[in-house]
Amino acid sequence: MSNKAEVIVIGGGVIGTSVAYYAAKAGKRVVLLDRGDIAAGTSGACDGFIIMQSKNPGPHLDLAMQSAALYRTLAAELDYDIEYMPCGGMIVAESEKQAQLLQGLIAKQKQAGLQVELLPIAQARQSEPLLAADLWGAAYCANDAQVNPIRLAQGFAQAARRLGAQIRPGVEVQALLEENGRVCGVKTGQGELRADYVVNATGVWAPTLLSPFGIELPIKPRRGQILVTEPLPPMLNHVLLCACYLIAKYHPEELDPTDRQHRLGVGLAVEQTAHGSLLIGSTREFAGFDRKTTLAGIEAVAQHARRILPALAKVNIIRTFAGLRPHTPDGLPILGPVEGLPGLIMAAGHEGDGIALAPITGQKVAEYLK
Ligand SMILES: Cc1cc2nc3c(=O)[nH]c(=O)nc-3n(C[C@H](O)[C@H](O)[C@H](O)COP(=O)(O)OP(=O)(O)OC[C@H]3O[C@@H](n4cnc5c(N)ncnc54)[C@H](O)[C@@H]3O)c2cc1C
Repeated sequence: MSNKAEVIVIGGGVIGTSVAYYAAKAGKRVVLLDRGDIAAGTSGACDGFIIMQSKNPGPHLDLAMQSAALYRTLAAELDYDIEYMPCGGMIVAESEKQAQLLQGLIAKQKQAGLQVELLPIAQARQSEPLLAADLWGAAYCANDAQVNPIRLAQGFAQAARRLGAQIRPGVEVQALLEENGRVCGVKTGQGELRADYVVNATGVWAPTLLSPFGIELPIKPRRGQILVTEPLPPMLNHVLLCACYLIAKYHPEELDPTDRQHRLGVGLAVEQTAHGSLLIGSTREFAGFDRKTTLAGIEAVAQHARRILPALAKVNIIRTFAGLRPHTPDGLPILGPVEGLPGLIMAAGHEGDGIALAPITGQKVAEYLK
């Protein structure tokens, strides 16, 4: 196997595989390395919301809308079933105060071109009948969708391989190689590999490879715990979030530390997968790299889910899991060249938006690899 490529992508999550696909599509000789397997990290332990209305107007929403447009034809382009469902999404408000928060966000999102509206609860229940009748209302966006993140990463990887990329699981990058001030490859347990560009798409682990250069990347793992139900007949027509999700994500300072649900950063996120299970999430906790679920987290998520969807009281949970969101202080991913380290391109730090932003991230990062 050659030890020279044009582009080395480190990380086989949705971001690394997307970068590998778009770079290979642009004609680059790509090698993707992952110390585990495709979707072994956060991309294999998350939900699959492609949700626009949770994004802040500005670069966050702009990128999400561009990504959503790419998603519409992605399964056909990759020739792979990524379980994409253009189902639309709702964010429910439990109180007038939460409805006002949504209304403020909606006004700005509409200016940015997103079609989103606040529905009274009676109207929201016409298309989502299992919502509790005493909720205040729900923001509705027809452009929201869902996807299977593991199949997404596999689809990107397989399509990249068809375009000539080498996908190499089980290869850990131990260090970046530098020559004359430029990153020129990687050192792995299986030897050195050289390239014109190295893309760091290692999610929550991205800072490790940069610290030897004195660069401290502000990416921190933010744990999310998810409950999985037994497969069920169709129950939900949309992906569902609640306003607490937005508060936990963007305004944790407004949470009440004496309330357990708030302390754990619980914000409801529910979707029904293609084979019928509901994924019910999730917490937002800074717990280091600990990927265990906790009784307190599971209980808090389940209680909140029952409040929003009372019918869930009769549903069996069959397992739980937790993933680590790559959190950044401003909520935006770190994309592009690194000042002072030519040859290195960053593609990490997507917090709770990496699935929604994967296609556009790959496309934009590939543009840096000229
Ligand atoms: C509970 C939860 C729910 C979420 N829900 C959503 C959602 O609904 N919608 C959405 O848009 N986003 C969601 N997210 C966020 C999304 O999952 C992440 O942003 C995304 O998966 C990050 O992908 P990534 O490719 O950057 O990282 P990862 O998937 O973690 O990939 C990084 C890869 O790098 C590899 N790696 C690390 N170090 C090395 C090394 N030294 N050498 C070789 N390989 C290495 C790892 O093995 C891993 O496979 C959620 C996250 C969580 C935790």
